[in-house]
Amino acid sequence: MGRVAVVTGGTRGIGRAISVALKEAGHTVAAVYHGNDAAAAAFTAETGIATYKWDVADYEACQAGMATVAADLGPVDIVVNNAGITRDGTLMKMSHDDWDRVIATNLGSCFNMAKAAFPGMVERKFGRIVNIGSINGQAGQYGQVNYAAAKSGIHGFTKALAQEGARHGITVNAIAPGYIDTDMVAAVPPPVLEKIIAKIPAGRLGKAEEIARGVVFLVAEDAGFVTGATMSINGGQHMY
Ligand code: NDP
Repeated sequence: MGRVAVVTGGTRGIGRAISVALKEAGHTVAAVYHGNDAAAAAFTAETGIATYKWDVADYEACQAGMATVAADLGPVDIVVNNAGITRDGTLMKMSHDDWDRVIATNLGSCFNMAKAAFPGMVERKFGRIVNIGSINGQAGQYGQVNYAAAKSGIHGFTKALAQEGARHGITVNAIAPGYIDTDMVAAVPPPVLEKIIAKIPAGRLGKAEEIARGVVFLVAEDAGFVTGATMSINGGQHMY
């Protein structure tokens, strides 16, 4: 059965692969982005998937944006909270703004989007929420107190909201990707990246499509008994 799905950060990287996979699975997809208009336009031209521009860190923008999506496409039954940013640096060098922005974009967005989507899901007795965490939220990472805290928070948020949704037919799960070949990882200096790959038992970076595969599974109609789970997709790098 085709549902309406919103994928935040759905125009690039992992989110792009999720948007495409959900469309291929028969869903009507809205991909949310923040600033890169050129990438969003190219994405729509290539995939035919509609894009919506708002800042997921902004509570009111999420309320307004989700209302627009529902008016355009219909009630939203699937939310994939994928948008995320890094602002790396050791604690000594990290600014308060680097902390706030990463927490608001990666973790605050999950609250903002759930607040907009959850009441309708309760009414319709069906919902699927998938939050994209990170291996670095499970294991920690040098120079990422902000990102690791936000991603770790996503895992707690997921388990708590799963308990609220379960009796209403709403599942809430997380995926913790390992290192995936996207723009975010391309920003890692090559010598550092070589060391990271050396620690991945699979011997390579993951592909965005390999994360999308997990999302398609979790949002399926017959995945209703899977909730509060974290699916690690990391090439064996961290077994949690
Ligand atoms: P990218 O940097 O490639 O893409 C990020 C996407 O998020 C873009 O579409 C971007 O929009 C959007 N976005 C960023 N900030 C906002 C915002 N405030 N409001 C709305 N949209 C926003 O990221 P990845 O594909 O690499 O990562 C996707 C998710 O997976 C993130 O949550 C990341 O933390 C997580 N992850 C990634 C890993 C990796 O190895 N790549 C590993 C583990 C987790 P725009 O194009 O307008 O900038």
